[in-house]
Amino acid sequence: MASIILSHRSSAYPGDFKQVHSPTLLILLAILLGIMALTQLASWYFGRRVSAQLFWAGAYLAAFLSAINFLLRSYQPEIAMILGAQVTQFFTAYLMLMGVRSYLGLKPWPFLYAVLAGTVMVVMATFFTLVEPNPALRIVISSLVTGILFGLSVMTITRGSIRQFPARYFFALPCSVHAIFVFARVGNAYQAEGGINLVQGATIPPVFILEAIISLVMMAFATLMLVSESITSELRRLAEVDSLTNTFNRRSFLTLLEKAVSASSRQQTALSVLLIDLDHFKQINDTYGHGTGDDVLCHFVSVASSCLRTEDVLGRIGGEEFAAFLPNAGMTDAQLIAERLRSRVAEQSLAGVRGDIRLTISIGIAQCLPGEPAELALHRADEAMYRAKEHGRNRIESWQLSDAVV
Ligand code: GH3
Ligand code: MG
Ligand code: MG
Repeated sequence: MASIILSHRSSAYPGDFKQVHSPTLLILLAILLGIMALTQLASWYFGRRVSAQLFWAGAYLAAFLSAINFLLRSYQPEIAMILGAQVTQFFTAYLMLMGVRSYLGLKPWPFLYAVLAGTVMVVMATFFTLVEPNPALRIVISSLVTGILFGLSVMTITRGSIRQFPARYFFALPCSVHAIFVFARVGNAYQAEGGINLVQGATIPPVFILEAIISLVMMAFATLMLVSESITSELRRLAEVDSLTNTFNRRSFLTLLEKAVSASSRQQTALSVLLIDLDHFKQINDTYGHGTGDDVLCHFVSVASSCLRTEDVLGRIGGEEFAAFLPNAGMTDAQLIAERLRSRVAEQSLAGVRGDIRLTISIGIAQCLPGEPAELALHRADEAMYRAKEHGRNRIESWQLSDAVV
């Protein structure tokens, strides 16, 4: 890409790579970059899920144009080639970073910044080419800017653990390598005898072009991995979470409860289950409409989340039925928590929903006993909840061992 500057005469390069024919490599790089830009675009077009891909498609397009610009360097004036290189290199690094920011849900920087920075680069390049010719300084400045942008991409994407987000680190690795090679051009620019003339002479060894091929291909694969990682985690979230209330659905609640039951019997700690049913919910739906009913469900969840402790887990297990399990809570603690929840729901006006709706809940509590299946505790809490309904609603009932039918 961007950082690749080669002469026609590969024999001008000392070292291991001198046999490598640079124009062939450059043509290969251009083809690969073009394919990568199209792949990003096609993947975005057919999925339309991850808009970061549009930035990445732009980054690869800029890199493709950069390679084409170098290939055509004998057929255009030197200044045109140099300015083309500045702009395409800058936009490759800039759009790569904007893709990373967009992928993580961070706001992309205003496009005006890019235009301003691109203009500064063009003015700088023109100055150090036509007014005060200093190719080494020109390359140093552009390498520092693009190197910093690739470095920022690495710093931005490496959030979260490698176990949870492996694709982020798979992207960060080639991106770091590329940033290092872009910075390495600074040293190379000063080493070059008598300055650098991209059109006529030797500049950077073909190792840079090989590095660009490897790093940019790896980064392209990594962006596709990032897209699939984001879609997978969204699908997983949709499979686990009830989309209306954002609480766990019945299936994942039961899975988590089973895990909690086995942990509590291993550690010999108490575990309680609450079964919570909204009272006369059908009336709310019938009077105010289904939409308001949905808002009431969300309101209940927000009140419940403020009453429960951080370790407690809430799930929606049916239409207007919720359940919560409370680790390390015996019957007395569970009754206190349930009472706090019941009274808070009854007291709180449905601000933002409908002020005149009076919402109450009935709660059944049961203990998870060691060696018993999680479903059984839930079933007992359900029995207790039905007793609360029978006894007038807006109340709490607890399942005791004496309730067991022998
Ligand atoms: P009780 O006090 O005995 O629990 O009476 P209830 O009206 O709350 O219970 P019932 O089982 O008769 O009605 C529950 C209602 O919940 C019926 C159903 O239409 C409504 N419901 C279930 N899921 C949803 C939902 O996602 N949104 C809305 N708005 N209503 C729902
Ligand atoms: Mg109900
Ligand atoms: Mg019900």
